[in-house]
Amino acid sequence: MIEKDLLVIGAGPAGSTAAKFAAKKGLDTLVIEKRQEIGTPIRCAEGVGKNVEEFVEIENDFISKDVEGAKIFSPNQELFEMAERAAGDEVGYILERKKFDQYLVEKAIEEGAEVKLRTRAKDIERDGDSIITKAIRNGKKIKIKSKIVIAADGVESRIGRLTGIIDSLSLKDIESCAQYLVTGIEDIDLDYTHFYLGKEIAPGGYAWIFPKGPESANVGLGVQPTRASKKPKEYLDEFMTQLGLEDGKIIEEMFGGVPVAEPLETAIDDNIMLVGDAARQADPITGGGIINGIKAGKIAAEAAKRSKENENYSKDTLKYYEEKRKQEIALKNKRNYQLKELFQSLGDEKYNSIVSSLKGTDFEKISVASLVSELIEENPEIAEEIKEII
Ligand SMILES: Cc1cc2nc3c(=O)[nH]c(=O)nc-3n(C[C@H](O)[C@H](O)[C@H](O)COP(=O)(O)OP(=O)(O)OC[C@H]3O[C@@H](n4cnc5c(N)ncnc54)[C@H](O)[C@@H]3O)c2cc1C
Repeated sequence: MIEKDLLVIGAGPAGSTAAKFAAKKGLDTLVIEKRQEIGTPIRCAEGVGKNVEEFVEIENDFISKDVEGAKIFSPNQELFEMAERAAGDEVGYILERKKFDQYLVEKAIEEGAEVKLRTRAKDIERDGDSIITKAIRNGKKIKIKSKIVIAADGVESRIGRLTGIIDSLSLKDIESCAQYLVTGIEDIDLDYTHFYLGKEIAPGGYAWIFPKGPESANVGLGVQPTRASKKPKEYLDEFMTQLGLEDGKIIEEMFGGVPVAEPLETAIDDNIMLVGDAARQADPITGGGIINGIKAGKIAAEAAKRSKENENYSKDTLKYYEEKRKQEIALKNKRNYQLKELFQSLGDEKYNSIVSSLKGTDFEKISVASLVSELIEENPEIAEEIKEII
């Protein structure tokens, strides 16, 4: 039996960050990851806001593009632009996500964490004040005894479901996504991230172009399954044709789901914390989850350290994580969830009129606040509802 202070399950951004900070604080930390290589396959459009620099030292190695801002297209193809710093947690840098995830793992190892690849957590059980995690490593059963488990095992989170902390996601709280990495793009301004709205393009979601290089980009979309009448790939193929990219070279295809759900009431149990997509911490409007996962990992590491100092691993001691993640992640996500529900009820004509009324506004001055005030101006009937949300 392997014995550790802390077991982190999953080496995505949330898990690696938790491991890095926990190891740095002196916890004997093991990370297990079911894949044989960190970061592949990539399920991401790879956009992050520059506020990622608050948590990660930026290295050119894992940045494929530094973008100037966002171009947002209404359903009737009117455009408005937002400066990068106003456009949210997904606009700023386009990552090389595989290298980024690998970098985060290296940082955890530098701080003293141990990492085992090809190791899949299968089951967990309590043993006194510890947890025993049963895993399969290279086809063999192993057991890991730890005082704390941080479950960073992504959107499907087996650990979250086994512990009863999470349930299955309802279909309206999932964005079903398809994305191509396309080269040979000539007529699109690849200094900007592009977003496209409209129920014909991506019902209940949006389409995106996230530039990767001078002529290449991640072109993708997410749809809400309850509103879509076709598969995401079919919407994406139509979108490619609409952009005139049907002859562009597709180098990679990717499909995946993003949780766009309300924040969990509880993301902990005795000895256990859920972080990142496992705890449904992606932004419900954009589906971006990298920065929130990193934030949550850092907070969970601090909570683990406090538990160790108090030699108490109960839910009560882990409340530090609950309170901090509520302040730093869940409060905003709760508001964005309500706004998402409201936006989805508006329909294409409303989007058209909002975008049209923003035309001519100074690019540097448009912010989420100005969008919301435009929304209220254009839709006085929902003003009260919006004021309650924000
Ligand atoms: C199409 C698409 C586009 C996206 N675009 C963006 C974007 O542009 N910007 C952004 O911020 N976010 C984006 N996201 C969301 C982002 O990818 C996730 O929010 C982020 O990866 C969450 O990080 P995480 O560490 O919580 O989970 P993950 O990155 O999913 O990592 C979980 C890890 O756990 C491992 N694992 C799972 N089960 C087990 C097990 N039983 N045992 C051991 N290991 C296990 C997995 O192999 C994986 O490595 C996108 C998502 C999708 C699907």
